[in-house]
Amino acid sequence: HRDQAHSVLRALLPHTGGSWRIGVTGLPGVGKSTTIESLGIKLIDDGHRVAVLAVDPTSSVSGGSILGDKTRMTELSTHANAYVRPSPTSGALGGVTHATREAILVCEAAGFDIVLVETVGVGQSEITVASMVDFFLVMLLPGAGDELQGLKKGVLEIADMIAINKADGDNAPKAAATAADYRAALNILTPKVPEWSPPVITLSGLTGEGLDTLWEKITEHRNTLEKDDYFKKLRSEQAITWMRDLVQNEINRMLRGDEKIARKISEIEAAVQNENKTPMGAAKEIIQLLNFKSTSGS
Ligand code: GDP
Repeated sequence: HRDQAHSVLRALLPHTGGSWRIGVTGLPGVGKSTTIESLGIKLIDDGHRVAVLAVDPTSSVSGGSILGDKTRMTELSTHANAYVRPSPTSGALGGVTHATREAILVCEAAGFDIVLVETVGVGQSEITVASMVDFFLVMLLPGAGDELQGLKKGVLEIADMIAINKADGDNAPKAAATAADYRAALNILTPKVPEWSPPVITLSGLTGEGLDTLWEKITEHRNTLEKDDYFKKLRSEQAITWMRDLVQNEINRMLRGDEKIARKISEIEAAVQNENKTPMGAAKEIIQLLNFKSTSGS
């Protein structure tokens, strides 16, 4: 259905781009779905239409998924002004993120003005998601240090805001201390946009405390980006990243989609494994297969 999907997207394209794209990442259990549910309901009450898309890298590995296993966002998912889509469970991560980019456009064409893209912070997917959104929120738990939180340094670098969640009850003081630690850590990083120093807030997705601040900051960030053409630049960067991903995907598809070529690649890979070919020579051979394919017009 690729051609059909492509023509649908082409027709929708003039109606896209009108949403604010917000990425949310954090380890399983940090409170992403609880927070998105509360935030989503608040935004709908304020007159917005909210779409939630999930990118779950575990689904492409195991076929099951962390984000899809439980009933999530029960109130939001049944709301007329919300659309909640679980992570696609088939295909490699490349395919899943590709599908998410297209889903963002479809949601925008359908009139959703807020698109939340949720991802489990356990691998590569958060970097990919950050490249397709306007604002990237990293959620953390009180207390635990970076390593305990499975957080890579790269993730802090792409954050537009950090929220220390579960800042309620006995955890509140610990959350405040953790927030102070991260403020200090962020101080030594160069911000993505010179005018925006990523704030660190405390939050309780459960009680709703801090949600107003969360939204205020997101709005502030939007206003900052819309000044000085940052926003236009950001969206064109997103388009270029998307294009490069598509090229990569297409090359992979050409290599793996043709049975004869796929078989040849398996042979070459086996030769590399047996040390009969060098990785460099083998890579060259594989690229030549692609040349042959494009010049032969097959
Ligand atoms: P996700 O895996 O990141 O989507 O996390 P969930 O939203 O499913 O939350 C995991 C667990 O933490 C659930 O039992 C929630 O009720 C609980 N939880 C989520 N947010 C908060 C919070 O702000 N405070 C407290 N105390 N518990 C929370």
